[in-house]
Amino acid sequence: MKPAPFEYHRPTSLDETFDLLDRYGDDGRILAGGQSLVPALNLRLASPRAIIDINRLPGLDAIRATPEGLVIGALVRQDALEHSALVRERAPLIAAAVVHVGHSAIRARGTIGGSLALADPAAELPACAVALEATIRVSRRGSARDVPATRFFRGVYTTALEPGEIVTAITVPAVPPSWRWGFDELARRHGDFALAGLAAGARVEDGAIADARFVFFGVGGTPMRARGAEAVLAGRRPDPAALTAAGAALDRDLDPPGDLHGSPALRRHLARVLLARVVCRFVEERP
Ligand SMILES: Cc1cc2nc3c(=O)[nH]c(=O)nc-3n(C[C@H](O)[C@H](O)[C@H](O)COP(=O)(O)OP(=O)(O)OC[C@H]3O[C@@H](n4cnc5c(N)ncnc54)[C@H](O)[C@@H]3O)c2cc1C
Repeated sequence: MKPAPFEYHRPTSLDETFDLLDRYGDDGRILAGGQSLVPALNLRLASPRAIIDINRLPGLDAIRATPEGLVIGALVRQDALEHSALVRERAPLIAAAVVHVGHSAIRARGTIGGSLALADPAAELPACAVALEATIRVSRRGSARDVPATRFFRGVYTTALEPGEIVTAITVPAVPPSWRWGFDELARRHGDFALAGLAAGARVEDGAIADARFVFFGVGGTPMRARGAEAVLAGRRPDPAALTAAGAALDRDLDPPGDLHGSPALRRHLARVLLARVVCRFVEERP
């Protein structure tokens, strides 16, 4: 199918972008990598009056190490994340996760800002942002605010973005080197959205999980932090008894939906499998 007719604008400054957002309101849509928006236009799931293509905005495609942390511009492509030495060094969780986003052709266009702004509940990068306790920079005319990722994702395809605002960057704070990061997901085919996935970090001491963050995706409307499972495993080695107890806690943490891809029971099972896999890797791998 072809999209409904739309006006096309390609602003070259943030001010011009905000003018266009003011002019069109709900009838204007930001275009970044287009990997989700263009299919939606073609299927006429979206028919905005105007497309505001932000690809020519200067300064939003850099990855920079700063005293506040690693700052990743909203227009950084997913394949740039995949190949960045800075990302591998300072945000290895993102490096591990991003290769699961679609296929390389999709990652060549898709942006981190688009992925965060879209807030697909089965997307990898929002879960990483929550696990890394990142902040998302949201800009509007004359001001900007940094929204903790934990408060940015509000529901299925719903974020804290307000009318007239766009995502301009994400900041990943420095984390002590004693933390290890793990990522895994289960999908029917490589490149598909995950049925369930886990973005996790842990501090390991003497083979036990001293501290952990487990953030699941594909199992709720937003990235889901499994605080019950985190608490159960704290201070324990991931032996079968501990993993069984953590799995039971996970059942209380998560309330996965059922759809044509999988039932709630299947997703609960996959979440337990992922937790066991990732936690065992944490204690097996050398620091
Ligand atoms: C076959 C296929 C498989 C895919 N598999 C996966 C997958 O496994 N995991 C996954 O996470 N994604 C997947 N995707 C989606 C892909 O990763 C997209 O790149 C991503 O979801 C959106 O990024 P984008 O830059 O393409 O955004 P666009 O498609 O340009 O925009 C998406 C939405 O975000 C808004 N938006 C974009 N940038 C901004 C901004 N800076 N500020 C405010 N609003 C903004 C747009 O208005 C639009 O509503 C897949 C896509 C395809 C076609």
